[in-house]
Amino acid sequence: MTTLKTRFAPSPTGYLHLGNVRTALFNALLARHSDGRFVLRIEDTDRERSRPEYIEGLLHDLRWLGLDWQEGPEIGGPDAPYAQSERTTVYAEYYQRLDQAGQVYPCFCTPAELALSRKAQRAAGKPPRYAGTCARLNEAERQARRERGVQPTLRFRVPAGRIVEFTDLVRGPQRFASDDIGDFVIRRADGGPQFFFVNAVDDALMGVTHVLRGEDHLTNTPRQLLLLEALELPAPNYGHMALIVGSDGGPLSKREGDLSIRELRAAGYLPEALLNYLARLGHRYEQDAWMESADLAAGFAVEHLGRAPVHYDEAQLLHWQAEAVRFAAPERLWAWMGETVHERVPLSCRDDFVVAVRPNIRFPVDAAFWAERLFGGELPLSEDSRAVIAAAGSGFFTHALAAYTEHGAAYQPLAEALKQRTGAKGKNLFMPLRAALTGETHGPELARILTLLPPNIMRQRLKAWC
Ligand code: GLU
Repeated sequence: MTTLKTRFAPSPTGYLHLGNVRTALFNALLARHSDGRFVLRIEDTDRERSRPEYIEGLLHDLRWLGLDWQEGPEIGGPDAPYAQSERTTVYAEYYQRLDQAGQVYPCFCTPAELALSRKAQRAAGKPPRYAGTCARLNEAERQARRERGVQPTLRFRVPAGRIVEFTDLVRGPQRFASDDIGDFVIRRADGGPQFFFVNAVDDALMGVTHVLRGEDHLTNTPRQLLLLEALELPAPNYGHMALIVGSDGGPLSKREGDLSIRELRAAGYLPEALLNYLARLGHRYEQDAWMESADLAAGFAVEHLGRAPVHYDEAQLLHWQAEAVRFAAPERLWAWMGETVHERVPLSCRDDFVVAVRPNIRFPVDAAFWAERLFGGELPLSEDSRAVIAAAGSGFFTHALAAYTEHGAAYQPLAEALKQRTGAKGKNLFMPLRAALTGETHGPELARILTLLPPNIMRQRLKAWC
């Protein structure tokens, strides 16, 4: 049995963002689910726009997300190299095969001529496709053009009158008429390869069996199937996934989730929050509960990918971030909280601090807020807190201080004693305490705050209102 192999084939022309990382995730999950292999291939044929820092960035982002590849850059593999810029000799051989089989021809049309032809076709109400101008040139005509110094592109001769059919893993049966596909360029005039060609050739040579990619590539697939057929190379199974769109149905905007992974990381998102969010974006799991990475893979199924466009929803992302914080190991959470927190919170209070604030934070800035409130110098008071403290009155705090002196940080006996002395209960009892101790009327559990705050701070904050 052949091993299932998927791949992620980014073009390093920018940083990874939610949209393309979801493609990486689904391919990685499919491979893991099936004990297969996940290949990373860098499609850096656009020399102008590809940059080494983008490659470095995407390797780093994928590793941070735990989307490790079994073949690809930095680790190698049986089909190395994995950057297309290093595979020129491989492609040369396949161009030659097509040439020998008469399936390609040089095209001398200039960009201006092509634009004009497209314009004329559109004006005649026809979909624009290559008119075939250079398809029938004889050798003498080609030679004459070469002598004029025109560098030709190489076009693939699309067979006439064919129906290209395939079953898309997500969208089901697909049918395309080859007559609707004009002969297309597979090598640029400067000798650089075109996406259609290298992408298909590499999938075949690298033994990729399953390709999950964005729906924007659906119309490329018949072209790639024709190329692979001409080269007598095996075609992978293709699945085209719905794209992530903004709430207006258009492409994602910066405000609506077109965020790079590095930006999200800098904001304090945890990788598993992004994974839990993205794995459910256009993919259905049996359950909505938080899942560890292994469970995301175990429950992944191509049949559960939806066809409808998926909408970015920040509230959902925030929900998974809160869940990630809830489930993260304490030491990890402490490290994630960052320097401000590390400087503020005494080492001896570290574990209790993590336990106390975990349910109330989503980002390191939230942790820093509570670190400042609990262990900072002067305690600023929110409006609400001021009102609650005033309503309780100084007598309440005199009794609170006495109850604390008697019972220490044990919340239940302290609250009981305070209730006996003041008659206050429920909200009227814990709100003033919370306000005086933290300056806020909401936040970490009071019982936890009592154990967390050192006695000198406790006394000082109660005394302030006596
Ligand atoms: N390099 C292509 C892209 O980033 C890959 C498309 C594909 O997955 O086949 O869009």
